[in-house]
Amino acid sequence: MITARERQIFKAATDVWGIKSQMIACIEELNEAAAALARHLNDKTELDKVHEELADAEIMIDQMKCIFYEAKIQNWRQRKLDRLCQIPAISQKLRK
Ligand SMILES: [Mg+2]
Repeated sequence: MITARERQIFKAATDVWGIKSQMIACIEELNEAAAALARHLNDKTELDKVHEELADAEIMIDQMKCIFYEAKIQNWRQRKLDRLCQIPAISQKLRK
């Protein structure tokens, strides 16, 4: 859940740098998170770097939610989770 304070910070960032710049920053942070995960799997970086990059990526995704209609993203998220729960192996696990 995005707090009121976080929304203020994201609005300020978008006001200062603009939506396009924040979208580019989001792309960069998602790639940094992916790279950190890959490096960790190859024993080339520690878990703390993965944590840091996932935090960066999460912050940028939250900003994108604020820019691109959070309710619609939440709707898609729920539909995807519902679909995931319908996979037999998953639903079987959830019943235990
Ligand atoms: Mg980063």
